[in-house]
Amino acid sequence: MATVEQHLQDLTQTHNGAAHAGEDIPVENPATGEIVATVPDLGADAVAEMAAQARAAQPGWEAFGFEGRARVLLRAQKWLMDNAEQVVSTIVSETGKTFEDASLAEIGYAGNAFGFWAKRAPNYLADERVKTSQKLVLGKKIILRYRPLGLIGVIGPWNYPLTNSFGDCIPALAAGNSVILKPSEITPLTSLLMAEGLRECGLPENVLQIATGRGETGAALVEEVDMIMFTGSTRTGRKVAETAARRLIPASLELGGKDPMLVLSDADVERAANFATYYSMQNAGQTCISIERVYVEEPVYDDFVAKVAEKVRALRVGKPEGPGSVEVGAITFPPQMETIKDHVADAVQKGARVLTGGSEVQGPGRFFEPTVLVDVDHSMKCMTEETFGPTLPIMKVRDAEEAVRLANDSPYGLGASVFSRDTERGEAIARRLEAGAANVNDAMINYTVLELPMGGAKASGLGSRHGAGGIRKYCSQQAIVVTPKLAMKKEVFMYPYKSRTSRLLAGFFKLLYGRGKRD
Ligand code: NDP
Repeated sequence: MATVEQHLQDLTQTHNGAAHAGEDIPVENPATGEIVATVPDLGADAVAEMAAQARAAQPGWEAFGFEGRARVLLRAQKWLMDNAEQVVSTIVSETGKTFEDASLAEIGYAGNAFGFWAKRAPNYLADERVKTSQKLVLGKKIILRYRPLGLIGVIGPWNYPLTNSFGDCIPALAAGNSVILKPSEITPLTSLLMAEGLRECGLPENVLQIATGRGETGAALVEEVDMIMFTGSTRTGRKVAETAARRLIPASLELGGKDPMLVLSDADVERAANFATYYSMQNAGQTCISIERVYVEEPVYDDFVAKVAEKVRALRVGKPEGPGSVEVGAITFPPQMETIKDHVADAVQKGARVLTGGSEVQGPGRFFEPTVLVDVDHSMKCMTEETFGPTLPIMKVRDAEEAVRLANDSPYGLGASVFSRDTERGEAIARRLEAGAANVNDAMINYTVLELPMGGAKASGLGSRHGAGGIRKYCSQQAIVVTPKLAMKKEVFMYPYKSRTSRLLAGFFKLLYGRGKRD
C-alpha cells in the first residue's frame, strides 16, 4: 500500500474511536478496482456523541473571533498548497478522476475558498447599523447582528470530495460554528486528510469532525445539527428536507442538474465546440453543472457537430497515471455506470446516433467512452434525466425560441449557457432561462466567482452557497434595539389609556400616512 494510503489507513483507524454501526466500509479506487483503505461505518450513537463534543467545542471557536479564525483558515490555505500533491493523490485514489480535474477544480477551488472566507467573513457578518423611517424608535440604536447557529452538518457527494464536501465546511467554520461533515461513503479519505490538516493548522479539537458512514449516518446527522447543508441527488435531498422540516432547522440543498447549452447561429462555433467538449467531459461528466445537453440553431448545427465529434474522439480515457496522461478519468460511483449505459441505450433504441464512444471500456477500472449523441429529442432519458457521465447529446433546433423552450422543459434548473457573438442577445436569452446561473459564451465559470450565489432553481435545490447568503445561512439573525439612558420614564401610548391621547395618536398616524392624493 502506498504511503498516502498507509497514512490514511492510520488516520481512519484512530478516527474517533466511536461505536461502529456496521461493517467497515472499503474504499475502492475506481480506476483500478483496488481497495485503498477502509473507514468505520459510524452509527447514530457515534454521531450523537460527536455532536455533544462539537457543541462543547463551539463556544471556544466562536471566541477566537474573526481574526483568530481567519488565522487558522489562512494557515490551512498554505497547508493545502504545501501538501497539494498528497491531497491530489488522495482525491485521485478514491475518485479515479484525472490529476488535472483534481488539481484545477478541487485544489484551485479550496485554495481560493480558504482565503475568500477568511477575508470576507468579517464583512458579510459584520453588525449592520440599520436606518429606519419608523418614528417610534427615533434616537435608538438599531442593529442587525449575525451569530453562528452552533453546530452545522454538511453532507457531501462523491464527485468532488474537496470542493463540494469539504468546501461547504469553510464558510460554516469562518462564521464560528463547529461542523460535522458526512462525506460520501465512496470518497471519505479526502475529508479525513483535510481534518487532519486543519488540526495541524490550529483548529481546536472537535470543531471539525468527520462522520464516516453510509446513508444512515447522514440521516442520523440531520437529527442532531442546528442546520444542514446537503449536496447530492434530488431524491435524497427531499428526505433531508423532510427531516429538517420536522425538526424546524434550516436546510440548504444543492441537488441534481441537467444543464443546457444553447448555440445560436451567430456563435463562434469553434469556441462553442471547445466549451461543449470540455464542460461535458471534465470530471468524466460527473459535475452537477456539467453541460448535459446542447441545442444548436440549424445554420451552424452541422459545423458544430463535426467539430465536437472530432474533439471528443481525440480524448484519451483511462487510469490517470500522472498529470497529462488522460483527459477523461473513471466513473466514481458504481451504480452510475448503469445509469449512463441505460441513457445511451434508451437514446439509441429511440433513434439516436452515436457519433463517437457509446460503450463501457472493458476493465480493470470503471470507465465509459467519451460519447457524442445526435438525432436526440425529449422522449429520451439522455435529454431529460441527469446522466452524470461523459456523454453529450446534441439536438438541432429551428431557432432560439425553440432552444429556450426546450432548455426550460426540465424539472431541473442549476446552470445554463448561451453562445452568441451578440452578447446583448445572449444576455437577454440567458435571463429567460430557468436556472440558478447562466453564462454567456462560457460555462460553469460562475462557480469560481465566490462573490456570486450558486444555487439551483426548481428541483435543483433550495438556498445557495457562495456570496453573502453562502455564509449568512450558517448564522441566525438577531435584531437589537438599544434605547439611550436619557429616555423618558414611559412612552405616550402606554397605560392608562385616555381618550385625548388616543385621538392625538390617531391624528398623528393620519398625518404620517394619510396625506396625499387618492386614486
Ligand atoms: P445521494 O444523494 O444518495 O448521496 C449524497 C450524500 O447523502 C452521500 O454522502 C450519502 O451517503 C448521503 N445520504 C444518503 N442517504 C441519506 C439520507 N437518507 N439522509 C442523509 N444523507 C444521506 O447521491 P448518490 O451519491 O447516491 O448519487 C446519486 C445521484 O445523485 C447521482 O447519480 C447524481 O445524479 C446525483 N448527484 C448529484 C450531485 C451534485 O453535485 N448535485 C453530486 C453527486 C450525485 P452515502 O454516499 O454514504 O450513501
